[in-house]
Amino acid sequence: LRNDTLDQWDRENLFHPSTHLAQHARGEAPSRIVETGSGVYIEDRNGTKLLDAFAGLYCVNVGYGRSEISDAIAEQAKKLAYYHSYVGHGTEASITLSKMILDRAPANMSKVYFGLGGSDANETNIKLVWYYNNILGRPEKKKIISRWRGYHGSGLMTGSLTGLELFHKKFDLPLAQVLHTEAPYYFRRPDTAMSEADFVAHCAAELEAMIEREGPETIAAFIGEPALGTGGLVPPPQGYWEAIQPILKKHDILLIADEVVTGFGRLGSMFGSEHYNIEADIITIAKGLTSAYAPLSGSIVSDKVWKILEQGTDENGPIGHGWTYSAHPIGAAAGIANLELVDSLGLVKNATAMGTYMKAALQDALGDHPNVGDIRGEGLLMAVELVEDRSARTFFDPARKIGPTLAGELLKHGVISRAMPQGDILGFAPPLCINQAEIDTVVRATKAAIDAVLPD
Ligand code: PLP
Repeated sequence: LRNDTLDQWDRENLFHPSTHLAQHARGEAPSRIVETGSGVYIEDRNGTKLLDAFAGLYCVNVGYGRSEISDAIAEQAKKLAYYHSYVGHGTEASITLSKMILDRAPANMSKVYFGLGGSDANETNIKLVWYYNNILGRPEKKKIISRWRGYHGSGLMTGSLTGLELFHKKFDLPLAQVLHTEAPYYFRRPDTAMSEADFVAHCAAELEAMIEREGPETIAAFIGEPALGTGGLVPPPQGYWEAIQPILKKHDILLIADEVVTGFGRLGSMFGSEHYNIEADIITIAKGLTSAYAPLSGSIVSDKVWKILEQGTDENGPIGHGWTYSAHPIGAAAGIANLELVDSLGLVKNATAMGTYMKAALQDALGDHPNVGDIRGEGLLMAVELVEDRSARTFFDPARKIGPTLAGELLKHGVISRAMPQGDILGFAPPLCINQAEIDTVVRATKAAIDAVLPD
């Protein structure tokens, strides 16, 4: 098919996620038909090759074009493309993958339930938490605390948990059971005079005040990404998780660590929970589980949660929760081959080494620029935040769209970054197999883009 035919059919027949619908239909929004991928590069139908410094949507962790995974998918598809996993049915692939996940997960984790994507896994998690409290005879303990700027998906419950206004407005969200507390975002602290330790104490105090105001007997769980992702790519301030966890424990509130982005190496540790000493009750996984070669997600539950779930089903029969595609064999085959590659290529270690290199290179190139307010990151999750005035820490008028303009400029230099949805934040989360020369390309393009859009 010709490119112009595809363009026309696209506008006539499809509408896309996170897209200005009307502009796209009128042919005014950016569009690209992606054809192939290899390593950290993708290529479109016009022959434009781009270095993907956001790994798709921070998910293609092993890089594009890995035949080990596509061969595993093909073999599984030929052998058995699908059978369901209800009523104890399974496949070699899904059973093997569950063991591989638990071998890598924190020691207190006990069982995996498979889904398709991060949003449905978090929907599952909230149902599990509610089920758990019903079994324990405390049906009033149902509210969930999330953070402003957290991202947990875009369903009705998960869109509610997501702490970004765009996901609420015009959808009548958040749902009534969801509360949002302070984002652990030191750069945007409410008062510039606050030290990092003061800010952590402030986040902890806000959380505790919310729990006391609502009544601990009404709060079921707290959900958070180990390091904030879509809300701004922000590693937590020092001591944040150490301050939050005792408060949750004291009030018997479960902790859900949403590791959809941080799971399987992104921060330079196998899990973000391990990276920040988080002892979660439930962990959400998706993206890096298969490096997005096939859709698959999971809810990993701890011993503590499992023991109660098990008791409840003994009394009540089967759990009333399931997706047709839970534990899909093709996703599971992709997951096995992917986790084997993460190990054999040493990608978790590479994320640490390349992350350290990239942060230093960004600092060298941009550290003195008057509009670069913050260069932050952990492993290969990195951000450059632009400000109007560095010393006063004032932000640009959002109407100027500095972030998207910069991301557009980077594209002209052959590099895909991501303008994060709230604030002028350029995000980088490349495949974990990236090397120094490729990072140099990203850093050079970023400097050129910032110098062009914001000459100092
Ligand atoms: N949780 C986190 C932390 C995410 O970053 C995302 C997606 O970016 C999700 C959940 C939702 O995953 P999905 O888009 O696969 O539904």
